[in-house]
Amino acid sequence: MSLEALYQEVIIEHYRRPQNRGELPNPTASVQLDNPLCGDEITLDLLVEDGVIVDVRFRGQGCSISQASASMMTQAVKGKTVAEADALMQRVQQMLKGEASAGPDLGDLEALQGVAKFPVRIKCALLAWEALDKGVHASGRAEA
Ligand code: ZN
Repeated sequence: MSLEALYQEVIIEHYRRPQNRGELPNPTASVQLDNPLCGDEITLDLLVEDGVIVDVRFRGQGCSISQASASMMTQAVKGKTVAEADALMQRVQQMLKGEASAGPDLGDLEALQGVAKFPVRIKCALLAWEALDKGVHASGRAEA
């Protein structure tokens, strides 16, 4: 199997069986974003306590890349500190823009690096991360 086919497989798997799909009963932030270019919609619920992303859920609809990226993102940031999630987000953004290479330490997120070849789909892949960025900082303000 080629690397590209493998990435495709990982994305389709997350699209078909998304992780952390649903909503949280008492989120510290809930962010809704859409990508009109593609018709993707994401609503992200976050529970941030003492600077740690204790729980995260998403719901929405759209293309396989937007939904798979949201599933992978929630899987990757759950249990991490806001600072760790910020660092991971920057790395994924750089990878999607082709400015940094992926590494096996990214886990399933590595599969998104294939998206860098399709500039119109980068917005799809980043939608969930933009929601995360807004959400963690909104949660921070609520605590302060
Ligand atoms: Zn899309």
